[in-house]
Amino acid sequence: MRRSQVYTLIDRCAGWVLPPRCVLCRRPGQPPAYDLCADCEAEIPVVPDPCRRCGLPRDAEAGASDHGCAQCRALDLPYSRCVAPWAYEFPVTQLVQALKYQGALANARVFGTCMVAQALREQADPWQRAALVVPMPLHPSRLVERGFNQSHEIARVVSRLLDLRLAGPGLRRIRSTAPQVGLSRRERAGNLSGAFAADSSVVAGQQVLLIDDVVTTGSTVATAAQALLVAGASGVVVWALARATQC
Ligand SMILES: [Zn+2]
Ligand SMILES: [Zn+2]
Repeated sequence: MRRSQVYTLIDRCAGWVLPPRCVLCRRPGQPPAYDLCADCEAEIPVVPDPCRRCGLPRDAEAGASDHGCAQCRALDLPYSRCVAPWAYEFPVTQLVQALKYQGALANARVFGTCMVAQALREQADPWQRAALVVPMPLHPSRLVERGFNQSHEIARVVSRLLDLRLAGPGLRRIRSTAPQVGLSRRERAGNLSGAFAADSSVVAGQQVLLIDDVVTTGSTVATAAQALLVAGASGVVVWALARATQC
């Protein structure tokens, strides 16, 4: 029996004992273990017509392809794909903040389940070649302060559902950085320089699924993906729960 089948069985048993409950409206969730009801899920804002490469709304006039849209085609992005099912707007902002600052770990299960469902709808995606799930790391000082890494909690769910190996130590944050929002592209690059280090003994030769909670400017995932490539990863696909469309 595959690991994902074992977890599905556990979820079914847990669902009988403690039925899923919607994290937004507290009404029954979706069996066997999705803590979000279908009505609330249908109301959550999504990125309209996202570019397959950068995840931003694409300019329909300019066209788009797997090589990017008008906004990202000229950029040398170190990842081949950015998947983010939801837009970073209300109520997603509240759900993410509850996970990060109030320890609402049930939200991580909702996020991971939603991201996997999105991937399964896109059968031809490069995640199917992915061997490793790597969470976006927190700096150790932030990890001590918060007690957990929200991206690691989401990555744990994704790895279980897809039967992929979770390799937390594959990527470390070795320098604390200031928030990226409000900085120019050049300033963002300088702010993040040397922020990440990847372990080549873990990631070399592997197609990596990099998991983050929210992609805002895209600079942080790009710097992290670059560190993975420098350590020898054969490719990087970024999955986030949500994409900010206004940075
Ligand atoms: Zn609901
Ligand atoms: Zn694009």
